[in-house]
Amino acid sequence: MGASITLIPGDGIGPSIVEATLQVLEVAGAELEYDRQLAGMAAVHDSADPLPPATLESVERTGLILKGPLTTPVGVGFRSINVALRKEFDLYAAVRPVVTLMPGGRYEDIDLVLIRENTEGLYVGVEHYIGMQGDPKAAAESVMIVTRFGARRIVRYAFDYAVSNGRRKVTFAHKANILKYTQGLFLDVGHEVAKEYEGLVDFEDMIIDATAMHLVLNPYRFDVLVMENMFGDILSDLMAGLVGGLGMAPSGNIGDRMAMFEPVHGSAPDIEGQNIANPTAQILAACMLLDHVGQGEVASRIRTAIRTCLRECDTLTRDLGGTASTDEYVRSLIGRLA
Ligand code: NAD
Repeated sequence: MGASITLIPGDGIGPSIVEATLQVLEVAGAELEYDRQLAGMAAVHDSADPLPPATLESVERTGLILKGPLTTPVGVGFRSINVALRKEFDLYAAVRPVVTLMPGGRYEDIDLVLIRENTEGLYVGVEHYIGMQGDPKAAAESVMIVTRFGARRIVRYAFDYAVSNGRRKVTFAHKANILKYTQGLFLDVGHEVAKEYEGLVDFEDMIIDATAMHLVLNPYRFDVLVMENMFGDILSDLMAGLVGGLGMAPSGNIGDRMAMFEPVHGSAPDIEGQNIANPTAQILAACMLLDHVGQGEVASRIRTAIRTCLRECDTLTRDLGGTASTDEYVRSLIGRLA
């Protein structure tokens, strides 16, 4: 058998879109061996631990995760297990390709990549309440942490990605006009690293709010975008919207030792159990994993089948304006692979 991976089906729509993905992988001839493990709510129900030791041990062994979305309780309860996994295994680069697979959307032929810093910024989880005048929650404080080390490695990752994938430009999105220390440091490092790639890849910096506007008005002016954690979280959903929504956007979380692949979207509790979720993002996440383990030929056959399926428009799921169930879409996809 080929690569051994840790498989985390996840919560909400996760188990159903992961099962759909496994069917597609099998028919396409992917050579993967799965070690199924729990995390998130499913693990809490099983063992009261959202990130059990058995899951961590499996990841230490395989170094590779294919993951469905995980639910994070809002306001109370455990912190995001997605964030915990990225931090635990130092998966510092989130790579989010945004590609048009279906014609007739707001734009045609979009081909962008967002690279998001995954371990620092406001998402480090350093926050607390401040009590005043008898109110224990009179104020709250969250700390944004940017290190020169973290900024340098993500910007360098973006440039290396651009060079090795034949990309023409890196746009560095930031808010250094307001957050002069944290974002200012990030921006300084951006310019410093950009010098090393002069003549190889173009570089520009742009304020994050202007970046959001330009992405909506004219996405073609961008190519590879790099930014800190929270800005990347927000803009990757915006960019998914340029190519048909969250059901179409995969993500790779890459570190020096490990890599984890998942959809950008969450566990979609509002449509859980209805057999209407779009599994495309999950399947495309598996394609990124296949590229990563040297099975790019299988990945490109799956991508071609998805493209054909979506272009012929006969079995679109509801988020794409169709009426097909998850099962009907997967059957039609498998029919194009067999
Ligand atoms: P969400 O992405 O789950 O859903 C947002 C909207 O998009 C919903 O209307 C949903 O029905 C729709 N949607 C999402 N994926 C879809 C798909 N594949 N097919 C069709 N429609 C789809 O975001 P949310 O509702 O804000 O979050 C739900 C839970 O997921 C929360 O607990 C959140 O913390 C978690 N979450 C997890 C991840 C992850 O595991 N990486 C990412 C984002 C959110």
